[in-house]
Amino acid sequence: MSSTEYALQLNEAELPGPAARQYLARDKAVISPSYPRAYPFVMDHGEGSLVWDVDGNRFIDFHAGIAVCATGHAHPDVIHAIQRQVERFLHISPDFYHPAMIELAERLTQITPGEFEKQVFFTNSGTEAVEGALKLARYHTGRSHVLAFVGSFHGRTMGSLSLTGSKPIYRRRFGPFLPGITHVPYGYCYRCPINLTYPQCDIACVDYIEDVVFDRTVSPDEVAAIFVEPIQGEGGYIVPPPGWHQRLRALCDRHNILFVADEVQSGMGRTGKWFAIEHWGVAPDIVCIGKGIASGMPMGAIVARKELMTWESGSHGNTFGGNPVAAVAALETIRLIEEDYMAHAARMGEHILSRLREMQRRHRSIGDVRGLGLMIGVEFVDRDGRPNPSLRDDILMRAFRQGLLLLGAGLSAIRISPALNIPQEVADEGLDIFEACIAQA
Ligand code: PLP
Repeated sequence: MSSTEYALQLNEAELPGPAARQYLARDKAVISPSYPRAYPFVMDHGEGSLVWDVDGNRFIDFHAGIAVCATGHAHPDVIHAIQRQVERFLHISPDFYHPAMIELAERLTQITPGEFEKQVFFTNSGTEAVEGALKLARYHTGRSHVLAFVGSFHGRTMGSLSLTGSKPIYRRRFGPFLPGITHVPYGYCYRCPINLTYPQCDIACVDYIEDVVFDRTVSPDEVAAIFVEPIQGEGGYIVPPPGWHQRLRALCDRHNILFVADEVQSGMGRTGKWFAIEHWGVAPDIVCIGKGIASGMPMGAIVARKELMTWESGSHGNTFGGNPVAAVAALETIRLIEEDYMAHAARMGEHILSRLREMQRRHRSIGDVRGLGLMIGVEFVDRDGRPNPSLRDDILMRAFRQGLLLLGAGLSAIRISPALNIPQEVADEGLDIFEACIAQA
């Protein structure tokens, strides 16, 4: 569809429209104000990478429900898999057995990195996967301390929140947090936390863990695990430099510390590989999965080396884990990603990144463009190169009014995380709107 046709389907002057305004008023009365709402989009339905609001306005979806709708909205194959399952049964406790849960666990052990035996624990969300990984790491090692990174996001329940270090608002007034957690600097080269330059730095931010933290405050033999997002998501879509994860893996190996990759946002084909950590050739001990695994059905998982799953029957469990409807959606999602969408995400990511790099040459306000596959961040800066969150927020709101759904991340970045099967013409149209908004702002 051309931009002119597209514009005809959006009543920019009246956004939010009358039906949306009514829902917004009702929402305000009964829904918790803690949800961070970037703009007033009230969804009616979606198809692929297009969504419509309750007033019939059409939008391009560049965030796919925060990197969840991996196969786009309402994928017919996923819908049919779900329909077939709901007619048979909706639920059985994971304390019993059902074929889809077993088959999905088999698939997850195959697609996660590492040529070793693995076992799976199912959850309903990313934060529960992180909680489970934290419990498993402590249980197996008998050690209590854990390292996480500045800028990380691991979820909002008390354990995962204790690991989270991306924004004070997530933590304010919720403490005290889990004891025994130390945050260390991430490989964020655009704004190096220790003011060095890659590659001359020789990845000193990882050495800091050994040279400073282990030498002065925490004995490594008390550290159960290091939790790391292979690419930081909420923290700003930050890709660490070549060699960074390998260096971290080696440090873990020296001290028998578990390497836990939180792939909740970066996993399931989003970066053009099943899991982002594969770009560094590293095999984690535990992988946390969520978001895109089941195209939008609530599901998460921990996949761990089999020899780590030493926790005994009854020590960890849940009510809804491995839910059959979510499990069949996940199996169909995996089939689609494997067949085509992962390769498409890699190609489309290259295309979008190269268009954004051209834009960067035209707009000084774009400080950094980074990403792998369809996990792309654009960081906005002021004239002195400092983060510019107000410009970023202005662009987000303008984009909404012009029919493009974007989301922020980190201090002043915009994340681009569309469905893995976004067609190139839809991506290009979205990028045209994005650039127009940057120019206006
Ligand atoms: N871990 C990462 C890397 C995430 O990006 C998120 C959510 O954004 C979570 C964990 C928490 O997942 P959930 O919101 O499903 O609990």
